[in-house]
Amino acid sequence: MDELNQLNELYQEVILDHYRRPRNFGTIEEADRRAMGHNPLCGDRLALALKMKGDVIEDIRFQGAGCAISTASASMMSDGVKGKTHAEAEAMFEKFHALVTGKSNGGADAGKFAAFAGVSAFPVRVKCATLAWHTLKAALEGMNKTISTED
Ligand code: ZN
Repeated sequence: MDELNQLNELYQEVILDHYRRPRNFGTIEEADRRAMGHNPLCGDRLALALKMKGDVIEDIRFQGAGCAISTASASMMSDGVKGKTHAEAEAMFEKFHALVTGKSNGGADAGKFAAFAGVSAFPVRVKCATLAWHTLKAALEGMNKTISTED
């Protein structure tokens, strides 16, 4: 948690709020798509379930155990992509990836994900922050398997 202490205080609060009260936590019995994600460097694991309506993510749930950043990221990702199309979700991932790797400073584009901009200062944490997104991509692409950030 040392890294978190160095993040901007406001952002720290946003991340801790999602960590303590993760949104869309749970599973979907009748899920259309599933994928699991594993980040061996930190030990983060999550299972993602999607309910699709055509190309739209109608519902999304995740379960798992991980550090504050991976859990908060999964929570915020699930909120962000619910009701969005496959393509919109992938575009959101690209923006998020640019933000956490420091390739974009966020700006207006970053929106609710701005809290993760500070992660770019801690390369090892980038994998924690992007795990949920990589898992989402795998689920959307119909890869019903466990993806690893180290593959
Ligand atoms: Zn982690």
